[in-house]
Amino acid sequence: MTLREPQGEQAALERAIEEAARLIAASRHVVALVGAGLSAESGVPTFRGPEGLWTKHGEPDLRDYERFVENPKRWWEMRQERASRFAELAQALETAVPNAGHFALRELEEMGRLRHIITQNIDNLHQIAGSQAITEIHGNRTKLRCVVCNHRWPLDGFPLDELPPKCPDCTSGIVKGDTVMFGEPIPRDALDECINQSRICDCMLLVGTSAVVYPAAQFPIDVKSSGGVLIEVNPNETPLTELCDVVLRAPAGEALPPVVEKLRAV
Ligand code: NAD
Ligand code: ZN
Repeated sequence: MTLREPQGEQAALERAIEEAARLIAASRHVVALVGAGLSAESGVPTFRGPEGLWTKHGEPDLRDYERFVENPKRWWEMRQERASRFAELAQALETAVPNAGHFALRELEEMGRLRHIITQNIDNLHQIAGSQAITEIHGNRTKLRCVVCNHRWPLDGFPLDELPPKCPDCTSGIVKGDTVMFGEPIPRDALDECINQSRICDCMLLVGTSAVVYPAAQFPIDVKSSGGVLIEVNPNETPLTELCDVVLRAPAGEALPPVVEKLRAV
């Protein structure tokens, strides 16, 4: 490595920040598609990538939802034990607070520059940071959901004396954690909102997502093919990098705040 390289990288990042701000300012309906990387600077480990949990501990069992459907009572009873399979993640989620990247997204929304966040994260950190328009495609760890009518409740205070709990709203569905399990379909209401947002979006920010989990990975492809622009914020290359109009090759907590600053000056 020569001494020039870091300077070159810094200059490239500054140019990309300027260009990202310019594209956002020129767009009508900006949507952020967010992945686990945004919360990495909050101490929440990702699944993929060099430091990812799956990279370190191996791939998970993909039959989680199948097991739940077979025996929901047992699933509820084993809930504590199941959490321990991802003990590192569970502990990090308990104590995590939003970082500069989450706050930058909230500021972009407040400035009227960001219309919606589609997040794959379940950590509730967008809400804690103060963002309003959020669709959680993989659910929220602090909520429960009815598998039939998709009604959601806060986990705290929900009566769990009878397992599995029945939905008090539609009375036919079983209630489970809102977090989408491996093998579980994306809840229809969340998926419809994502499709709608992607349809009207003319600029999508891809923040901290490895862009390999479907259907989320399809949204940027749809935006691009209908003439929109893509801005990637990720320290690593992803399968979508080559489709992107601008790439901010840096952690979200470092790259997003200067984009907000540039937009304040517009
Ligand atoms: P991923 O784990 O597959 O990939 C993370 C991506 O973030 C990688 O591309 C990596 O290069 C990038 N990254 C790492 N540090 C970053 C940083 N500081 N700034 C920006 N980018 C950074 O994540 P995924 O694509 O979201 O898919 C995994 C699934 O696992 C998600 O759908 C989610 O449901 C779940 N998950 C959620 C959380 C959470 O809620 N915080 C944490 C782990 C996994
Ligand atoms: Zn219901």
